[in-house]
Amino acid sequence: MATSPAAAPPRRVVICGGGVVGACTAYFLSTHAASPTVPTLVEKSSPACAASGKAGGFLALDWCDKTPALSALARASFALHRRLAATLDGGSAYGFRPVHTLSICLPTDPDPAAAAAAAASPLLPAWVDPAASAAPPRELGTTDTTAQVHPGFFTKAVLAASGAEVVIGEAERVVVRDGRVAGVVVRGRGEVDADAVVLALVPWSGRFEMVREVFDVSGLKAHSIVLRPREPENITPHALFLSYQPEPGAKMLDPEVYPRPTGEVYICGMTKDEEVPDDPETITGEPDSIAMLHKIAGRVSGQLKREEGAEVVAEQACYLPCTDDGLPVIGEMPGVKGCYVATGHSCWGILNAPATGAALAELILDGDAKIVDLAPFSPARFLKKKSKRGV
Ligand SMILES: Cc1cc2nc3c(=O)[nH]c(=O)nc-3n(C[C@H](O)[C@H](O)[C@H](O)COP(=O)(O)OP(=O)(O)OC[C@H]3O[C@@H](n4cnc5c(N)ncnc54)[C@H](O)[C@@H]3O)c2cc1C
Repeated sequence: MATSPAAAPPRRVVICGGGVVGACTAYFLSTHAASPTVPTLVEKSSPACAASGKAGGFLALDWCDKTPALSALARASFALHRRLAATLDGGSAYGFRPVHTLSICLPTDPDPAAAAAAAASPLLPAWVDPAASAAPPRELGTTDTTAQVHPGFFTKAVLAASGAEVVIGEAERVVVRDGRVAGVVVRGRGEVDADAVVLALVPWSGRFEMVREVFDVSGLKAHSIVLRPREPENITPHALFLSYQPEPGAKMLDPEVYPRPTGEVYICGMTKDEEVPDDPETITGEPDSIAMLHKIAGRVSGQLKREEGAEVVAEQACYLPCTDDGLPVIGEMPGVKGCYVATGHSCWGILNAPATGAALAELILDGDAKIVDLAPFSPARFLKKKSKRGV
């Protein structure tokens, strides 16, 4: 969405939310070619304490291609991830690396014939138990089209590179005067002046009345565990997308397994609709969901069995930020000049944060986003729907 550029670009930009989206927005504001602007970032707890620190960090060039608007965002982001990794030494700073990506159907009960066929497949990594595959694995992505980062390290690295002043405190409300943003009230600190404010608070954006009035953003709780295998050096860079039915008639599960260059292996899945708590630090995993992830990990590889020496590094949960139409919301809030929002990236926030941040920086500083067309993501798209529902 294009906005008419202000006479001069805003100088005081405040970003609320220290997840990957807030951090990338800070980075692209401060590295903007014509008007580099180092923002202030207000974070309630600590940078990357929520989904951005607990995600998988998987990146794909073309997995969003079925949705044209998202495809443009994802492709631009994938390219920016490569560029950022070259600029910020992403390989050692935050574990950026290309990965092979496989689809594996984990059988309900081990089937020796299927295991023999899987074992014969040249695609099956040596650390994956052939009995974990009901059929030979299928290739979903190559090292040209899929990659990964450690999401928490990535978020902190881009935030540090932005030079943003980080204020730890809770943003309570946006101050608006004469239809223009004037600042943000931070609990216990009072008003922080601003010419532009970015709300990157998913799924907590809905706590702001001005957001709630325009669109809904909800959270879907998802679980993950991080394990340190017995022999980390034997775990190859293969991301695994599993399908698994724990018992006949049970719901199909689709857990994901990401070995990391740190030697750790991250496994996620097990979603649940649940109210998002106020404090991101109080989010904990459900014991049943965590137990199921351990069971799946042990089925995939003996290297990931606790009883065979795998060390448990983390058992955690966080929320996927979801919107009513499944698309992120990126753009200026209708009726409030200078107030921008970036939220609802669902399961692709780590991938899509760089182009989101770059586009927002252009929108704020140039009045127009060039890297991606933001029209499909505009918050204004929800106005009609809300008024039809009489909300
Ligand atoms: C299990 C799981 C696995 C995932 N795996 C992947 C993956 O492999 N690849 C991928 O691309 N995406 C993945 N995602 C999605 C990705 O994690 C999210 O889309 C992304 O992290 C959202 O980032 P964000 O910056 O928008 O929000 P968040 O990371 O949630 O950050 C919001 C921040 O706002 C802060 N905050 C909240 N309220 C306030 C306030 N009032 N004032 C100040 N600060 C406040 C919070 O403390 C938090 O730090 C995964 C998500 C989950 C749940």
